Amino acid sequence: MRLNITCIPGDGIGPEIVTQAKAVLNAVADRFGHELHYTDILMGGASIDACGEPLTDDAIAQAKAADAVLMGSIGGNTSTSPWYQLPPDKRPEAGLLRLRKSLNLFTNLRPAFLYQELRAACPLKEEISVAGFDIMIMRELTGGLYFGERKTVVENGVRKAVDTLTYDENEIRRIAVKGFDIACKRKGKVTSVDKANVLDSSRLWRKVVEEVAADYPDVTLEHMLVDNCAMQLVKNPAQFDVILTENMFGDILSDEASMVTGSIGMLPSASLNETKFGLYEPSHGSAPDIAGLDIANPIATVLSAAMMLRYSFDLDREADVIETAVQTVLRDGYRTVDIMSPGCTQVGCSEMGALLVKRISE
Ligand code: NAD
Repeated sequence: MRLNITCIPGDGIGPEIVTQAKAVLNAVADRFGHELHYTDILMGGASIDACGEPLTDDAIAQAKAADAVLMGSIGGNTSTSPWYQLPPDKRPEAGLLRLRKSLNLFTNLRPAFLYQELRAACPLKEEISVAGFDIMIMRELTGGLYFGERKTVVENGVRKAVDTLTYDENEIRRIAVKGFDIACKRKGKVTSVDKANVLDSSRLWRKVVEEVAADYPDVTLEHMLVDNCAMQLVKNPAQFDVILTENMFGDILSDEASMVTGSIGMLPSASLNETKFGLYEPSHGSAPDIAGLDIANPIATVLSAAMMLRYSFDLDREADVIETAVQTVLRDGYRTVDIMSPGCTQVGCSEMGALLVKRISE
């Protein structure tokens, strides 16, 4: 298979971790006989420095022309970098927001998976961490409260702020379809999270999700109120497979779920549109404090590349091989500094990449 991938190395540790993710993808392509074509584009601070803006029209066109986009991370030190003296719409993050909008990425996927080898970093009780968990949080990304009409007014001398939460059935249906499709590739269970005891938007969410569920007889659907879900994530995370939810609930729940895994350098993410196209990136930022030191953990980006193979290219076997390589390297006791624990062997970013390539190629 021929895969056209646009890469955004970005800023800070971005170029280092993307280099390792590419090396891993190349090893998988060699093993399975795929042809990879990369085009690098600039975004964030690197694009501000080179082109005077965080994302150019040309870069957007190149991203759109690809089958998928693999990104490192963008941004600098927000207190000291000159990029943050610019107006908000010229700063590094404006490039990412523009890219997401231009590509119509309405579904965000953030897995929360607990590696048994990294159990010590999990802040939950031991009996919960021993059971492990493997959750996919699917968050609607372009609607709801963050995109509704808002205003702040003064009425009779009293300041008043209004935000509105709107969803139409089409917005709900398209992410629900993605949620059920992805559940079919996993354990076949969807937990739809809402606040249907209070909100009209949640009652519509629930109805539309049920309509979509009718087309997926092999997937089990359950509904859960968001406050209960926040509790269940720390009480019994093993019960979840796919959590499907709207924008703000997903924002909060995905951060909670990532914290219970305990290691930010391990967490991939994906943002998808209606087609198979997706933007794949680690959940962490550009870590300017460790940029250029070759100590960053590349695993979140490597696992993002695995998600790309699985969700944009339907190459599940190839994705499995990458995930197994990560598990094997951890089992063999290799750790980057962020996940280091006593008795393990500390390695840098490029050495971690080389270990993964070796496991994939043997
Ligand atoms: P961060 O995630 O970059 O770093 C937080 C801490 O985690 C730092 O101590 C860092 O060294 C460490 N860390 C992060 N990733 C690591 C890795 N792979 N390996 C080892 N250690 C790692 O968050 P921050 O410091 O708040 O933000 C830095 C910059 O990144 C800011 O400009 C911010 O806006 C940007 N940012 C970008 C994205 C993105 O590109 N999608 C996301 C979040 C933050």
